[in-house]
Amino acid sequence: MKDNRKGRRVVVTASERVSMLPPYLFAEIDRQKEAALKKGMELIDFGIGDPDMPTPEHILRAARDAVEVPAYHRYPKGTGSEFFREAARNWMREQFGVAVEDGLDVGAVIGTKEGLAHVPIFFCNPGDIVLVPNPGYPVYRASAILADAVPVDLPLQRENGFLPDFGAMAREVVAGTRLVFLNYPNNPTGAVITLDQIQRIVEWARREDVLIISDNSYSHIRFDGRPPASFLQIPGAGDVCLEFHSLSKTFNMTGWRIGFVVGGTNLVRAFMGAKENIDSGVFTAIQKAGEAALRSNIAGYFDIYARRREVLVAGLKKLDWDVCDSPGTFYVWVRLPRGTESMTFARKLISHTGIIVTPGSGFGTFGEGYVRFALTIPEDSIHQAVGRLEQKELYSHRIKAWLKKGMK
Ligand code: PLP
Repeated sequence: MKDNRKGRRVVVTASERVSMLPPYLFAEIDRQKEAALKKGMELIDFGIGDPDMPTPEHILRAARDAVEVPAYHRYPKGTGSEFFREAARNWMREQFGVAVEDGLDVGAVIGTKEGLAHVPIFFCNPGDIVLVPNPGYPVYRASAILADAVPVDLPLQRENGFLPDFGAMAREVVAGTRLVFLNYPNNPTGAVITLDQIQRIVEWARREDVLIISDNSYSHIRFDGRPPASFLQIPGAGDVCLEFHSLSKTFNMTGWRIGFVVGGTNLVRAFMGAKENIDSGVFTAIQKAGEAALRSNIAGYFDIYARRREVLVAGLKKLDWDVCDSPGTFYVWVRLPRGTESMTFARKLISHTGIIVTPGSGFGTFGEGYVRFALTIPEDSIHQAVGRLEQKELYSHRIKAWLKKGMK
C-alpha cells in the first residue's frame, strides 16, 4: 500500500518482475579479467560472441549514401520500409526456397534480441508457460519473466544431440504451454537441426496448439556442408511459427541493430502491431544497409570460422578435452570432467593461462559442467591459446590434473 505521510524517505524500487530476472553471472569473470590485466597478462578472449571482422564495404557504402538522404532522417515506417521487407522476402526465397507471399509476412526488428524479448509480452497471458531451452540464450527466460509468464526449462542434452525432447515433458506442462523458443544452429551448444526434425516439431506444435519462436540468428554459420534450414520450409508452418533472422552474425553487423521477423501473416501483423506501441522502427539508413546485405552474396568469412574451429577443436582434442564438436555457430561447447564447476574452471583458466571462456552455467542449469569458446578472435590467437595449454608445462599439467580429478 502507498504511504503518503509527509517527510517519509521515498524509496522507489523496480517491479517484482524485474527483481526476478537472473543476476549477471559474468561479473566474476569480468573481475578476474581485470585482475589478470593488472598483473600484465596478455589475455586471449574466447568469451564474447561478437564477430571481430568488419562489416563488408558494400554495406558501408549503402549506409553512407543513405545517411545523406533527408527523407531517411524522419521517423521510419514501423513495420520496416518496403525496400527492406522486399529484400527480406527475396532472402527467404533465395536462401530457403520460402515464398513469403503465400500467407506469410515479414517485418523489421531492431536486432533479433529486441524482437525475441517482446514476443512473450505480446503473445502470453499471465501464467502461460514459456518453454526455454536450457542451456540457452538468456533473453528467452528474461522475456518470459517480464511478461508475467512462467519460464519452464526445455532441457537440451548431449545424448539427444542438444535437441528438445517434447515427449519427456509432463502433460500438464505441455497443456499450459503458450510458446516455445527454439534456436538452431544453437548458442551455446553449436547443435543444428534437420528438416525432418523441424517437421516433427511443427506437427507437435500444431497438435498441442503451441507457438514456435524459431531464433535463426546463426542460420548460415554451419560446417556440416548442409544448406541453412528454416522452420518456414515446412508447408503451413507459418500458422504456428514466427522466425527471427539477424543480420548481426551473417554480415558482421552486430552494432547496427537490424534483423527481421517472418511467419504467418496474422502472427507477424499481431507482433508488428503491438511493437508499434513501443518503438518507432529501425533507422531507414540502416535498413538501406540491411537491404544491401541481404541482396549480396554471403561473404567468404565463414571459411575463416571453419579454419579457426579446426585449429581449436584439434588442439583441444589433442589435450584430451571432451569437445562436443557440433557443426553449427561460431561456438565450441566443451564438456568438463564430472563434478567440475564451470565458473570455478573459467576463473582458474584466466588466472593460470590468461584464456577467457564463458562458463556454461551462464546459459542455465543444464549448461553447468560445460564451457563455451567463441571463435571470434584471429586464428593466430587460437594457435597461441592452444600453445599456452599445450606447451607451458606448468599450465598444461595443471589443466590436465584438473581434468583428471575434477575441481573442488
Ligand atoms: N539469438 C541468439 C541465440 C544470440 O546468440 C544472439 C546474440 O548473441 C542474438 C539472438 C541477438 O542477435 P541480434 O544482434 O540480432 O540482436
